[in-house]
Parts: sequence; C-alpha cells; structure tokens
Amino acid sequence: MAGCVYLTGAGPGDPELLTLKALRVIQAADVILYDNLVNDSILELGRAGVLLIDVGKRCGRHSVPQSEINRLLVEHASAGNNVVRLKGGDPMFFGRATEEMQALQASGIAFEIIPGVTAASAASAALGLSLTRRGIARSVHFLTGHGAEDGLPAHDWVALTRAGGTLVIYMGRETLPGLAAHLIEAGMSPSMPAVAVENASLPSEHITRATLSALPHALRASGAAGPTLILLGEALQSPSTIAATLKMAAAK
Ligand code: SAH
Repeated sequence: MAGCVYLTGAGPGDPELLTLKALRVIQAADVILYDNLVNDSILELGRAGVLLIDVGKRCGRHSVPQSEINRLLVEHASAGNNVVRLKGGDPMFFGRATEEMQALQASGIAFEIIPGVTAASAASAALGLSLTRRGIARSVHFLTGHGAEDGLPAHDWVALTRAGGTLVIYMGRETLPGLAAHLIEAGMSPSMPAVAVENASLPSEHITRATLSALPHALRASGAAGPTLILLGEALQSPSTIAATLKMAAAK
C-alpha cells in the first residue's frame, strides 16, 4: 500500500510555532523532504532512522528542480512510506504546493495539507503591530517580490497602492529598490512606513524600520542575508503615531 504525503507547514522558524499536527506527522515520518527555510531543530524532532532529504528551496530557486521533488515524493510514498513534505511557513503560500499536489493526484497518492504559521504572522508578532487596523488598514495583501528570471514581478502597482491596505512582500529583499520605485511611481507616499523583518521568530530576528524611500538603503546597510519580509503601510506606524493620525482624522 502506498503511504500518505503530508504537505506540512514548518512555521517561520521557532520550533514552538509548529502545530501539534505537524509535530505528530514529523514524529511518525519515514521520509522528510525539506526546504532550506526549515530550521534544524525541527528536523531533529523526527524519529531515529528517518530519511531526511534536503531539496534546498530558497527564494523561488531550487537546487533540486521541482520535477525531481515531485518524483521523489511519488517514489517514496509509492514504496509505502509515510512522507512529510516540510515547507517553511504555511505550505500554501509561495511554496509551489499546487505542482506537488497535482503530481501526487496524478499518481493516485493520498495527501493531506497541514497549515503552518506564515512569515507574515511571525513578523506582525515581532513588530507588536496588527497588520489590520480599524480605520487605517482594512486589507492585507501577500505579494511575491520576485518575478521571472530574477526580475520584478508584474503586479498592478497602482491597484495595490489605491487599495490602501498593508502590503506584505515575500522574497523581496533583493528586488526592494525596484519594488519601492514602482510603488512610489504608482502614487504611494515615499514617507509610507516601511519595515523589514529578517529571521522572524528566531533568536537572530532583526528589524529595520524606515520609510518606503529609505528602506532599500537601510536594509542593504543592515547586511540582512537571511529570509526577510518587507511590510508597507500605515498600519506599520508606531501606535502613538496611529493615535495622532486617528485624532487628525476625527478632527477633519
Ligand atoms: N511558505 C512560506 C513562504 C515561502 S517564500 C511562508 O508561508 O512563510 C520564502 C520567503 O518567505 C522568504 O524569502 C521571506 O520573504 C519569507 N520568510 C520565510 N520565513 C521567514 C522568516 N522567518 N522571517 C522573515 N521572512 C521569512
């Protein structure tokens, strides 16, 4: 009998942010295929003798091609193993989960999705700021900062700017100068609060606060090299500034 594949969210890094369900399937796994973003201390939760396969996914690039990851999932599950496909954060955000689910479905292999804490939630907690805020930010937009061939993604920059919500940009560390330029050109204020959170939830967590126009330089100067989330919007103001803004709005 073929085993089951668990497409599992490993969360943002801190092992305590694993779900109980993720912990249970990790402890029962025969084979774990994991991405670079998965912390070693989470892999150590596997039982003795578990086969750990590093499929090294980082920033949308793969050291192992996606077709090979799909093939490995099918091969190990077909051999009757319980397979955990461990992805950073939540497996359904920017994780190529669709390709893997299609490959499993095509081979008749059962799978289950186990959600995880996405980087946006960890960054919000690190900042102590809600990404939604009554009267200030009515929506949150998760975007990739990374387009085809290492370029910028083709977002509708004007629509994103007009929406007035909080923008959360995954995989945007390297393309930030271009992202900021597009948003400013589309009408976003250069003084919009902008924050980068590197290694959210880990001891090495580092926060860089600036404005939209200043963040590219500030982030480069910080030397950030780990996974970094970029957050933009009025909700990123410190709470005292928010109070002043609300008062101004009420006085209008
Ligand atoms: N599925 C993941 C995202 C994968 S894309 C999730 O739900 O979080 C990889 C990007 O996620 C990184 O380039 C970075 O922008 C972001 N990221 C992942 N973990 C992070 C962390 N601990 N701190 C900051 N950003 C993180």
